[in-house]
Amino acid sequence: MSNSNNNHINGGIPPLEVAIVGGGIVGVMTALGLHRRGIKATIYERASTYTEVSAGFAFTEAARRWMEQLNPDLLEILGRISQKTDANSSNSYWDGYNPRTREDAEDESKALLFRTPNNKLLFWGCVRSQFLKEMGALLPEGAAVFGKQLLSYEDDEKNNKVVLHFEDGTTAKADVLLGCDGVHSSTRKNMLGPDHPASRPGYTHNVTYRTMVPIDVGVSAMGEKTAQGGCMHCGPNACLLTYPVQSGTLLNIAIFAYDAEEFPDPKRMTAPANRSEIEKIFKDWCPHAANVWKLYPEKMIKWGIYDMTQNPPPTYASGRVCIVGDAAHASTPFLGIGACTGVEDALVVCKVLESVQARRETLNGETAADALREALQTYSRARLERGQWVPRNSGQIGRMYQWRDGRDPEGLQQKLAKAAQAIVSYDVLAPLAA
Ligand SMILES: Cc1cc2nc3c(=O)[nH]c(=O)nc-3n(C[C@H](O)[C@H](O)[C@H](O)COP(=O)(O)OP(=O)(O)OC[C@H]3O[C@@H](n4cnc5c(N)ncnc54)[C@H](O)[C@@H]3O)c2cc1C
Repeated sequence: MSNSNNNHINGGIPPLEVAIVGGGIVGVMTALGLHRRGIKATIYERASTYTEVSAGFAFTEAARRWMEQLNPDLLEILGRISQKTDANSSNSYWDGYNPRTREDAEDESKALLFRTPNNKLLFWGCVRSQFLKEMGALLPEGAAVFGKQLLSYEDDEKNNKVVLHFEDGTTAKADVLLGCDGVHSSTRKNMLGPDHPASRPGYTHNVTYRTMVPIDVGVSAMGEKTAQGGCMHCGPNACLLTYPVQSGTLLNIAIFAYDAEEFPDPKRMTAPANRSEIEKIFKDWCPHAANVWKLYPEKMIKWGIYDMTQNPPPTYASGRVCIVGDAAHASTPFLGIGACTGVEDALVVCKVLESVQARRETLNGETAADALREALQTYSRARLERGQWVPRNSGQIGRMYQWRDGRDPEGLQQKLAKAAQAIVSYDVLAPLAA
């Protein structure tokens, strides 16, 4: 159990009650941030338990700073389970296509496009499922309810509560509803209306194949340098990312491939796949990429990548409801900061709700509802620009990794340097002070 101030009652006034739809990374983090502030948060998750893939992902130093403010316990977990990059290491970007031999593919003078120093982003990489499970274990008893799929909600002006309707016919009430329900968010759809263009995400025509292998297996297949930090192999219509996780014992591998076809089922994020698809994608590439299919199981799952670039939501809040994390600004993963951006959202939404909670004693039912609506509008205004910048820039970088507009390592290097600067220098709380 955490040292969070779970049972805090503000001078006899009951704490705000927040319903969080979605027990993914961002929903659980937000709940921990709220409990820390004496706000009662209940997660409603459609799955029967916390569900995350056993794949790696990473958080920047900037995101860790905001995470610590959200709830220091989060940083403790991440620090314990992460593989950390240090200021002297770098991410390397390789020509994954042209080298014909293994020696050439590992020869920096022939295949290395450039390196970017890690002293800016300083990623810490961990295994998603482990991080989510450890975070979930910090929540107070009863703070996560599983098997609850949100269908709709009512935010009645006259009603002092938002009412959530679940697929199993049950309902729940709360002062505020936070939709942390991911890229295909039901909360967003209900908030904007099913005919609004931003009610559905756009398919980016990219699929990803993910796996993790013991580090020695990865190194013998992909070369010594893959164990030393993030490596991106670039080439036509695909790219291949590798980096060590779990204290350097595992190599995380993610392939991102352009696919002109529509995703098999647009309502689902995954589809069954064979490793022969990977063999086909990298058929003419350098030996590392051409053989990477051997590291994957025969039968697997591929993920369709959707984002909000084409039709970004015009607002993240309406009434006493708002959207947080991928529900608001799902992005392609090419900048590697989708969840980091969710951390930023979580901190801002916690801060604005904390300020209503602090004034609760002086607010009656009606003014409290108004204060909540205004707080969520403040959240939306603070996050909207950032939430559009991330998916837009990530999509542009993905095109460059995949040589979709031609091979341009200099342009890519400049674009990455500019993006890294924008990521590290961004002050999440500044819009709240304005
Ligand atoms: C290949 C890949 C690599 C990535 N790497 C990184 C990285 O290195 N660093 C980084 O910062 N980001 C990365 N990202 C992005 C990151 O994964 C996402 O931004 C993050 O997981 C979003 O979390 P979330 O909680 O908002 O949404 P999700 O993780 O999608 O969680 C949503 C939750 O809501 C639940 N749900 C959905 N609908 C309902 C409903 N109607 N009712 C109840 N529950 C519902 C779902 O079951 C799920 O548990 C990567 C993404 C991909 C695809």
